[in-house]
Parts: sequence; structure tokens; C-alpha cells
Amino acid sequence: MERTLAIVKPDGVKKNLIGEVIRRFEQKGLRIAALKMLNLSKDEAKGFYIVHKERPFYESLTSFMTEGPIVVMVVEGEHAIHKVREIMGATNPRDAAPKTIRADFASDIEHNIIHGSDSKESAAYEIPFFFSSIEIM
Ligand code: UDP
Ligand code: MG
Repeated sequence: MERTLAIVKPDGVKKNLIGEVIRRFEQKGLRIAALKMLNLSKDEAKGFYIVHKERPFYESLTSFMTEGPIVVMVVEGEHAIHKVREIMGATNPRDAAPKTIRADFASDIEHNIIHGSDSKESAAYEIPFFFSSIEIM
């Protein structure tokens, strides 16, 4: 059993895709173990994406993440990290495999609807960033 953090980014919430994202997770046998909607401050967005602080897109990405509410969730299941990454598709929607969330809905490499932890180490940082242990079912 593995846990990962997924986020419906501000563009995904604006496009009414919260249910669609959850449906795709559940259809693949993944379970939602925690869920909430919130607004990120700029500093919180910078903290969440700290691994990218030297990247040219850091400023723009962290502003985008504050543009509206996001939905954060803990997703649980066998190989949850890899499964969520597969359901998401590649970062750039032009490279994303058909029928992935990003291929179906993302408008560009920044506005790509969804986040998912990329490793056990990332999940171990990202899950407690948003959820305390008593909030995870
Ligand atoms: N991003 C961007 N430009 C890039 C690469 C990434 O704006 O050239 C944004 C995009 O929203 C992406 C996020 O930064 O989802 C984090 O980048 P990462 O490489 O971790 O991609 P992910 O793990 O989300 O596929
Ligand atoms: Mg990433």
C-alpha cells in the first residue's frame, strides 16, 4: 500500500474537473484517503515547490498556483505514486499519452490541471505539507 499527494490545480478547479479527476483515480482502484479545498498563498506555493526554486518557471508556477482554489488529496493504493503519474500524463500536454488527464484537458506545460508526487520521497514531503495524520483516513 502506498500513499501519494495529488492536487487539482487552479485551472482544473476553474474547468470543473474535480469530479473527473477523482473519478479517474477511483476507476483505477485508488482510494481517496483525505481531501480538502484551499487557497495557497505565494509563500506556501513557493514552499510546496521548493525543489524547483532554481528553475526558470518557479516564479510563474508559484503565482499560477495562487490564482484560485486548489483541491488537495491523499490517494492510496498499490503503486499509487506510479498509477497517479500515469493517469496524469506527461508534464507537457503535447507529450502526454492519449486519454491521460493532461492530454484531455491541459492547455499548456504550466496550466496542466493536476499535480502528483513523483517519488516516495516527494510524497513524504508533500502529504504532511497539507495534512496532519488525523486528517488521513
Ligand atoms: N512547469 C512549467 N514549465 C516547465 C516545467 C514545469 O511551468 O517547463 C510547471 C508545471 O505546472 C509542472 C510544474 O511546473 O506541473 C512542476 O514541474 P515538474 O517538472 O515537477 O512536472 P510534474 O511533476 O508536475 O509533471
Ligand atoms: Mg513534479
